Amino acid sequence: MTVLVLGDQLTRDHGPIADGTSDVLMVEATAFATRHAYHPHKLALVFAAMRQFRDDLRETGHTVHYHQVETFAAAIEAHFEDHPDDELVVMDPPSYRGAERLRSIVEDAGGALDVVENDLFLVTPDAFDEWFDGEGSGGEGTNYRHEAFYRWQRRETGYLMDGDDPEGGEWNLDDQNQEAADPEKEFPDPPRFDPDELTRETVEWVEETFDGGYDTTVKGGAWADPEPFFWPVTRAQALDALADFCEHRLAGFGPYQDAMLDGEWSLNHLLLSPAINLGLLHPREVVEAAIETYRERDDVPLNSVEGFVRQLIGWREFMRQTYRREMPEMATANLLDAPHDLPEFYWTSETEMHCLSDVVGSVRERGYTHHIPRLMLLSNFALTYGVEPAQVNEWFHAAYVDAYHWVTTPNVVGMGVFGTDVLTTKPYASSANYVDRMSDYCSDCAYAKTETTGENACPFNALYWDFLGRHEDDLRNNYRIGPVYGHWDGKDDDERREIHDRADEIRELAESGDL
Ligand code: FAD
Repeated sequence: MTVLVLGDQLTRDHGPIADGTSDVLMVEATAFATRHAYHPHKLALVFAAMRQFRDDLRETGHTVHYHQVETFAAAIEAHFEDHPDDELVVMDPPSYRGAERLRSIVEDAGGALDVVENDLFLVTPDAFDEWFDGEGSGGEGTNYRHEAFYRWQRRETGYLMDGDDPEGGEWNLDDQNQEAADPEKEFPDPPRFDPDELTRETVEWVEETFDGGYDTTVKGGAWADPEPFFWPVTRAQALDALADFCEHRLAGFGPYQDAMLDGEWSLNHLLLSPAINLGLLHPREVVEAAIETYRERDDVPLNSVEGFVRQLIGWREFMRQTYRREMPEMATANLLDAPHDLPEFYWTSETEMHCLSDVVGSVRERGYTHHIPRLMLLSNFALTYGVEPAQVNEWFHAAYVDAYHWVTTPNVVGMGVFGTDVLTTKPYASSANYVDRMSDYCSDCAYAKTETTGENACPFNALYWDFLGRHEDDLRNNYRIGPVYGHWDGKDDDERREIHDRADEIRELAESGDL
């Protein structure tokens, strides 16, 4: 029996390796890496983490069959040629039809594959389905409600519980987690991990092998630089990063969770979604480290630790399960019939909109921004502009170091651009008002945050009202966004026409690269 360890299952503490199987098969298939215009840091991260894990296993006596090939199928065929009687076991991949595809590759090579539960998540598909078919749906058909799921998970895990009640009396302390950004405030520098020899070689190999792979969709050449690369690629580094977060950033995580500051990419965020999604850290140990810090220290407020726990035991698991249940429709869902192409500045960062230029710059530099720029800048712009959801999903999938189809699709198509309403109750559309309240971008921008029309007006304003106007039939009766139609009703025909004209002009400017 050999354990097939996929590139996002790099753990020796969970799954079949933890049960004591000593033979391991790992496959680096370069064909996977050219399917999207992947950020070179993402490619370096996955390949370096795999190679580090291989060496780490070998040092502790495992036999690792490591194949560097063009296609996954070629490696599986080679394995069964060498080991005709072998049987493979793998943890169920979260991607849509991932297990089925693997099984057919293995069977075509004359082998057998046993697919077991993926222990890198907290909730099993069966447990979710049972909950959802019972109390979870709340009688609302296929609409998933995160808050109900989260409360169920708090009870199931016992995290931050006081008997049957939430510690502190409330389940969700989000109302304390919306401090605006203060440019005077100092945020701790996050750890950077200098690449060792193996990682350095991998970064160089990515540059040589995939140059032209990750830049093909973009006019004007490579859209991101492979260096400097600093993400954690081993479990030891990921554990160091987790300890650093607990020591320096957890206390301030809650209040500044939604804040955005020019040039400050990390604030108090965890920055470990890449390591968690690779399997280097288990979500349970991340949550438990934070709770332990909260118990030991007086300066970590409950709103910080509750907000943090909610992201991991709530949102992350919720996204995985809703994706599982709603695919394949979710990937191409386009509830509002958004027709436009993604503007090119998502790749180049060339726009006079200060906020978008800064966050795309951060994506180009390191393949990361925190949640609010993803949702309230990049997705909000695409939503109100009317970009086809699948194109936005494709961009996020390619651009971020923590991106996998199972996690981008519900976040982007569901939460970000409202391609489907199964997992959120309203589109996250907003005007410059929100950006100005939560960031310092507007004070140093070529566009005027208070103007809606005219060539100097912030594009977020006209796009927001144009969006509400165009989707009145879909959204006026939405209980969360419906009330803002009171303001739309107060605008006369001339004002509405000017808004729609300005929105059209913004699309033309974006298409010609002049926004
Ligand atoms: P923190 O903000 O410090 O949060 C802690 C942890 O909670 C994260 O590391 C992550 O593991 C988990 N988490 C929080 N929210 C979510 C969520 N909505 N879905 C899944 N996990 C969550 N997350 C990804 O892991 N990969 C993606 O490709 C991805 N794409 C996104 C695209 C959009 C449009 C949006 C709105 C969100 C996306 N997210 C994605 C979710 C979230 O933004 C990131 O997990 C988070 O920003 C990662 O940064 P961090 O580690 O500093 O997290």
